[in-house]
Formats: sequence, structure tokens, C-alpha cells
Amino acid sequence: MSRNDDLLARRAAITPKGLPQSTLATATRARGAIIIDADGNELIDFVGGIGVMNAGHCQQAVIDAIQNQARNLLHTCIHVATYEPYVALCERLASLLPHGDATKVLLLNSGAEAVENAVKIARQATNRPAIICYTDAFHGRTLLGMTLSSKVGYKVGCGPFAPEVYRLPFPNYFRSGDGLGQTEFVERELTRLHQTFVHTVAADSVAAIIIEPIQGEGGFVPAPAGYLRGLREICDQYGIKLILDEVQTGFGRTGKWASYEHFGITPDLSTWAKSMSGGIPIAAVIGRADIMDAARPGTVGGTFGGNPVACAAALANIQILEDQNLNDRALRIGEQIFSRFRQFQERCPVIGDVRGMGAMVAMELVEDGDPRKPAAHLVTRIVQDCVANGLLIIPAGPYGNVIRTLCPLTITDEELDRGLSILGESVERHAISHQPATV
Ligand code: PLP
Repeated sequence: MSRNDDLLARRAAITPKGLPQSTLATATRARGAIIIDADGNELIDFVGGIGVMNAGHCQQAVIDAIQNQARNLLHTCIHVATYEPYVALCERLASLLPHGDATKVLLLNSGAEAVENAVKIARQATNRPAIICYTDAFHGRTLLGMTLSSKVGYKVGCGPFAPEVYRLPFPNYFRSGDGLGQTEFVERELTRLHQTFVHTVAADSVAAIIIEPIQGEGGFVPAPAGYLRGLREICDQYGIKLILDEVQTGFGRTGKWASYEHFGITPDLSTWAKSMSGGIPIAAVIGRADIMDAARPGTVGGTFGGNPVACAAALANIQILEDQNLNDRALRIGEQIFSRFRQFQERCPVIGDVRGMGAMVAMELVEDGDPRKPAAHLVTRIVQDCVANGLLIIPAGPYGNVIRTLCPLTITDEELDRGLSILGESVERHAISHQPATV
């Protein structure tokens, strides 16, 4: 039995079936954008630990920061004794991502925890109970995270879910544009929100609207800029807090620190995790100081939130993103992926849409060019085939019919080209033979 097979068999025997397993890949070590599996095979990484490794695997500066911090202080809990790395990281985040004139930052352990806390803060700041979220949203696997998340397959049997959560259709132009122009589409979708205040929940009961500016797990679907700007105005009009979930889009993925910077809006609160720290669990809520300070003492925090080693790793990781200008690199990577995906699309009509922002690019596979007919079975085959041929990649979307790229932004041009070639060959093998008889 190979080491890969042995490890996979041990995993199957000891871990619960509910733990997701998108591929049969294994990993023993990694550098940059390359992972070495248990049998010593090389995999080009187009997943980055699901959007965590924007600054690349095992950067020396991150390793050094972790080791130095570990020698001095592993833990006190920020509730008990104040340590500099926590404060320094909050200062760094507030200066990179100001939310109005004065910004405050709370550190936590995971994206889901950041979402939970952003909601708690918005509720306390408004004295209102309701939260509006979206179809195809993903906000984590805690109970409130699951309630806010959309995909039924990720939450089946886990209820009852949290009350006072209302869901709107995400403005997905590809799937529900219905032939409208962008402006009319945005108007229609914003009207939906106004109607929601009439027939579903009163605007003055709504504490917050939470949205991913570009949906991650939902299939890399960008909200139209006009929609996000309209949302900002509506939130201001009704005193609703706008929470932008940047957990998957943040820290360079789209070519900016925050994807919302592309849309010319600033949230009241925002949530962060994943690529903040180069692989060590840490998360943040960033927000306008007056809103952040509305949380009563003791209502936010946690034993491990903002652990000193994680803070040191995050500070080093952010420095790498800045020093290596990885925001700009994301734009160049994105251009390459986009143009190759467009070439695939010309040859494979089953690729219904190519979309994204910066290095967050995806293609959606649908039957007969119809956005309502997802071709998930093809994506499953392509993903398996890629992994067998040395490219680690995973699907996205509520139907699993989207192929997404989240490669480390330190990937070399040669690795990127090789990865795209493996993907292209696999798409040809599985999708070209699948062209509909009449186009
Ligand atoms: N929010 C978004 C947009 C995400 O993509 C994710 C995870 O994929 C989460 C929240 C949850 O983050 P975590 O898995 O760290 O709890």
C-alpha cells in the first residue's frame, strides 16, 4: 500500500464522515505554490488551503516570526494580560483597512467566529434583532454561521437554526440576469430589498446586512458594483450596519487588501481570516470605532482569540504581502488565468461563464449554455483528473459546477502555466467530448 493510501485509510477509519474531503490528495510539506504528498509526488497548488496561502506556503519570515514569538510568550489570553503583538496587529489592520475616521479591531480564531462577533456587535450597536443575508452565501459552520450560510447540503440535520435571519437572492447576474442590462438588473435586485422591508421584516428591526462582495464558496460570483453601492445607501438610510465578509476575498486575492476597495464603498464592520496569517488560525472583526465600542464588556472575546504566535505570524505575513507587492501580482495572475479560461471556453461550450476579480477567477460549467443546468458531474471528474495529474484544485458553487482558482500569489509564471495546462488538458478530455449536439 502506498503512503498516500495508508494515510487516507487511517483518516477514513478515525475521522467522522461529515468532515469534508474535496480530493484524495495528501500533504507532507509545502513551499511557495508546491505541495509534496505522502508518496513524494509534487502538486501545483491552486487551492492555497482554501484561500489561506496568498503569501505562499512556509514563507521563511513567517516561520521566523512564529519561532521567535514561541520562545518568548505562547499564551496569556488577552482578557488576562495585554501583549504587544495583539495590539500591533490591530493597529496594522486598522491602518490598512480604515473604517471611517476611527477604527477598532477585535481578534478571533476563525472566519465563522469573526462573523458571529460582527453580528453580536451590530445587534448591540442598533438594539435590533434581525440580520439579512443571501442565497449561496457561506459564512462558516458555527450555528449562526450555518444559519447565515445558504447551501442546504452544508447544514442538513443541524437545526433548529438561529432566529431572526432573513435571506435575499444574491444578485447573480449570470444565473438570474434574465436578459436585463446591468443597470436594470441592479434596480430590480435593490427593489427586492425595499420590498423585503414591506413584506418580510421591518427596516427598523434590521441590525445588519451581511454579504460577501464576491461570493467564495457560492461560486466566485461578484455582486454588481451598483448593487453594493445601493446597499451602502440603503443601510445608511435605515441605520442598518453593513457587514462585508472578506474572509475569502481579503489580503490580496482580488488585487487589493479588501475586495470592497474595488467597489468604492466602506463597510461598517468587516470580517477577516484565511490569508491574514499564512496558515496559523486567526481572524478579525474590523469596524468603525463607535460601532465596535457598542459591544458591552464581556460580550466578545475568547480564550485563544489573537494568540501571540498567530499575531506574530499575521504581522510577518502582511509584511510579505506588502513587500512583495502581491496585490499587483494577483492582478497579473488573474489576467493569465482569465485569458486561458476564455480560451478553454472557446473550445468547450459547456463552460457557460468565466468570471472573477484579480486572482479569484472561476469558470462555471452548464449544460446547453443554460445557467439553470449545472454540469457538476463534469467538474467532479475534472477535479479528480487534475489531482491525479499533479494539480490540486477544488470546485465551488451550490451545485459544485464551478472550478475556482485560489493559488498562492507567489506562484511562478512557469508553475502557473503548468497548472493551467494540466487543467486545460483535463477540461478538453472531459468537457469537449461533452459538447451538445446542436449549439
Ligand atoms: N466567510 C467566508 C466568506 C468564507 O469563505 C468562510 C470559509 O470558507 C468563512 C466565512 C468561514 O471561515 P472559517 O472556515 O475560518 O470559519
